Amino acid sequence: MDCLFCKIVEKKMAAQVIYEDDNYLVFLDINPTTKGHSLVVPKKHADNFTEFNNKEAMGLAGVVHRVAPQIVQAIGADGYNLGLNNGVAAGQIIDHVHWHIIPRYENDKLRLWDRSEYESEILDQTFDTLKGKIN
Ligand code: 5GP
Ligand code: ZN
Repeated sequence: MDCLFCKIVEKKMAAQVIYEDDNYLVFLDINPTTKGHSLVVPKKHADNFTEFNNKEAMGLAGVVHRVAPQIVQAIGADGYNLGLNNGVAAGQIIDHVHWHIIPRYENDKLRLWDRSEYESEILDQTFDTLKGKIN
């Protein structure tokens, strides 16, 4: 399998690794959105987050939760965004599950996703579609 992040995990490709343990790697994103933008990558390959079982998902989330504030503290940021692009439609480019930690700075002017106007009819339709289907 030709997976870029597996190659980084296997040290066949270089990366600026800021944390590593038996199961996870955290390294700097090569095209950072902000200073300190890091990727949390499980060593075990899975194409995307949906493929993970709940225990694997919680394991990854646990590392993100522990590491993100440390990055913020060490880099001198003021907050952070987390991002996980799941699927091509969501902007996933690398098919090896990973979580983005994007440090935020006061007045960094980074724009997040757009928000649409309040439209009660559409919201009501959406609610009818989803209610009772989530457990
Ligand atoms: P995705 O869109 O799949 O969630 O994000 C993939 C991320 O991996 C992108 O932010 C991109 O900049 C980063 N990336 C792609 N190739 C490399 C690489 O070779 N090394 C590192 N460190 N990051 C990479
Ligand atoms: Zn992989």
